[in-house]
Amino acid sequence: MTCADCADDLSHCHGTLLLPDGLLGTAECTDPSCVDLAAARHPLVLAEHDPLPQATEDFLAA
Ligand SMILES: [Zn+2]
Ligand SMILES: [Zn+2]
Repeated sequence: MTCADCADDLSHCHGTLLLPDGLLGTAECTDPSCVDLAAARHPLVLAEHDPLPQATEDFLAA
């Protein structure tokens, strides 16, 4: 996979960083080979307390 950060040869990860809700949880990455869970290395960061997209409502309305 190639992206802008790859082209710039920056240390980064193509997985999605999952941030815990609050300070007690542990961050996880969807990439099993991820070596560093620093948010700065992850263009894709998902906070677990973020509201889900509207997909559920759309499904129920269909
Ligand atoms: Zn990349
Ligand atoms: Zn990662």
